[in-house]
Amino acid sequence: MDVSTFEISVRKTELSRINQLDQDNIQFGKIYSDHMLQAYHENGEWQNAEILPYGNLSMSPATSFFHYGQAIFEGIKAYRDADGKPVIFRPYENWKRFNRSAERLGLPYVPEELFMDGMRKLVDLDSAWVPSKGQTSLYIRPFMMAVDEFIGIKPTTKFLFMIITCPAGPYYDKPVSIYVDDKYVRAFPGGIGYTKAAGNYGASMYPMTEVRKMGYDQILWMDGVEHKYVQEIGTMNVFFVLGDTVVTPELGDTILEGVTRDSVITLLRDKGIKVEERQLSIDEIVAAHEAGELKEAFGTGTAASISSIADLTYKGKKIELPSVENWTVVPSVLQELNAIRYGKQEDRHNWLYRI
Ligand SMILES: *Cc1c(COP(=O)(O)O)cnc(C)c1O
Repeated sequence: MDVSTFEISVRKTELSRINQLDQDNIQFGKIYSDHMLQAYHENGEWQNAEILPYGNLSMSPATSFFHYGQAIFEGIKAYRDADGKPVIFRPYENWKRFNRSAERLGLPYVPEELFMDGMRKLVDLDSAWVPSKGQTSLYIRPFMMAVDEFIGIKPTTKFLFMIITCPAGPYYDKPVSIYVDDKYVRAFPGGIGYTKAAGNYGASMYPMTEVRKMGYDQILWMDGVEHKYVQEIGTMNVFFVLGDTVVTPELGDTILEGVTRDSVITLLRDKGIKVEERQLSIDEIVAAHEAGELKEAFGTGTAASISSIADLTYKGKKIELPSVENWTVVPSVLQELNAIRYGKQEDRHNWLYRI
């Protein structure tokens, strides 16, 4: 039953590109599904949305987001359940977060009928693009930007919301080397760290490139005031297993409220494992390591799911985590998260959205 107040018209492609997809060797972001969704917001309201063949956009060089970066996005995944049906993992959380980002960036509210129904229709139409082998998925990328054709600074009045999707291959968890950055910051109080704003990513590119040159995989960001409390790693939330307690930084305006973060916390608590959301200083981590209490450390996010940490380098000193073969928390929570996503275990928290 379709109770949507939005017309979402569909213009299908004449020739699917699905046979260009190598199911055995999916390279993330290389090939996009046949269709995309687009909707303009003008004169204070959403115009009718359209699903149309994936293709290039044509825009005036004066389009405002090119200049001022008023743009946000989301990252969501669809999986195939045990019956081979596509299911989307917790998309309502992304819809809510998208609107929190939109509010902070001065972008319009995207109603459920546009975000959720649009996504459902798009994934349904391109369901052949949801891969089925191994631990693969369809990555869903909603995004929105200001598209006034004006380079003067004024509140923007024209916006574009879009959704594109692309297949994602299995993710292999290779433990990462982390550089604890005490110079650059990702977010600061009063800023936009809690939003999925394009600019947060833009601002992290240079520090990321610098630490890669030094031979590390990711940055552990610290707080922007004292450079002392851990925040996130790269573009993931971060967790430390200290003794028998799992500690992750508490939410606030400098931490992105990850859906994977919340899912992992929920599953850990289900297992009776103690989870603390609180301020955690790098000194406490160093002290825990010296006391033999630093057991495991990992990042969480939709793209990589769970990413184990091999070592952390802080002020020239390298802290090595115990060998991942001896870890217990990460393997058990990852196993369960995957079992739920792929419909191999009861979805007791109602996380799967059927299309
Ligand atoms: C997207 C993102 C995450 C992870 O969020 P998920 O909802 O788990 O994908 C974490 N940190 C940052 C900065 C992010 O942009």
